[in-house]
Amino acid sequence: MICHNCGQDSAYIDETSETYGEGDKLVVIEHIPVINCRNCSEEFFTAETTHALDELIDYLQLNPAARVYEQPVRVASFQGNPAATQVYNHPVTADSGGR
Ligand SMILES: [Zn+2]
Repeated sequence: MICHNCGQDSAYIDETSETYGEGDKLVVIEHIPVINCRNCSEEFFTAETTHALDELIDYLQLNPAARVYEQPVRVASFQGNPAATQVYNHPVTADSGGR
């Protein structure tokens, strides 16, 4: 696959996860197809993937419980210095649907 950044035939399709929102609106979207380049390390979504992600994020905002499962997530607060970074489990409540 041709890389749109460097023009070499060194791009391949991989999968990634992205995090959107914060606090109790935090959602992790898994299994997003992403194009990586072995030559220049560029990583990008196709226009179709970007469009589908936008639609999915809109959909999740309108339908908070739709096709989503909950699991504890490690959240790190960026401090610049890894040793000073605080990591905690994002609280997940069993009855969060009752709000
Ligand atoms: Zn490239």
